[in-house]
Amino acid sequence: QQKNVILRMTNVTKKFGGIVAVSNFNLELKEGELLGLIGPNGAGKTTVFNLITHVFPVTEGRIEFLGRDITKLSTDKIIRLGVARTFQNIRLFGSMTVEENILTGFHAHLKSNLFSSVAFLPSYQREEEYFRAKAEELMKDLGIEHLRDFKATALPYGLQRKLEIARALATSPKLLLLDEPAAGMNPDETLELNELILKIREKYGLTIIVIEHDMKVIMNICERIIVLDHGVTIAEGTPKEIQTNPEVIKAYLGAG
Ligand code: ATP
Repeated sequence: QQKNVILRMTNVTKKFGGIVAVSNFNLELKEGELLGLIGPNGAGKTTVFNLITHVFPVTEGRIEFLGRDITKLSTDKIIRLGVARTFQNIRLFGSMTVEENILTGFHAHLKSNLFSSVAFLPSYQREEEYFRAKAEELMKDLGIEHLRDFKATALPYGLQRKLEIARALATSPKLLLLDEPAAGMNPDETLELNELILKIREKYGLTIIVIEHDMKVIMNICERIIVLDHGVTIAEGTPKEIQTNPEVIKAYLGAG
């Protein structure tokens, strides 16, 4: 069965002054795929996410999402088209509760035409009820429903990471970009995270790119891995192929 290409990056380059952060990057991501993006510090991984979501414009190249050229679209529009992300340095609203943080995700989505045209939401109250029920479901999916009234910053790091994923899901993404979701998690939490990523992919029909230094995440859940080094793709393949690739071992795995 032929799957659609959800994201296509063609000859994408990003320069910051004299630094080439990403060099001639090419990617064809199929719907439902779970891709790992790895590489040493400064390899350009986060920059790839920043380019997809147009935090920075590309220097050269083209990015298509669902067949549409999004290279020049604003971050806001790209999010509304169905791209969501989490951040390496967690960005939650610290003074808000767990539930409120998730609700902000819906409100970001509310601005989109998608929701304003939903006829079964005649009143603000119905809308709020609907979002609360959705937030409840997301909290359950992520196993944080017992924490709904806690302030986000009161949670341990691992749980803040889960909350960030829940909030990202509230925007109903088709493509989810996870930037080091296991950072700060203990080994048990990391194992649980693997299950969780697979579960939400299935349940919400997601395509996922995950940046991760923790090889227990990358090797266990990713179907395909791209290895970046100094902005250049040095290898691409299945976890098995990557683990035995001499260039990867030299550039990355050997160093870690
Ligand atoms: P890490 O694993 O440490 O997060 P990374 O692979 O995500 O690294 P990037 O953060 O994408 O790497 O950085 C790639 C290169 O681009 C680095 O040399 C970095 O210093 C540079 N860079 C990234 N963002 C900027 C920016 N806003 N301005 C200038 N240089 C930047």
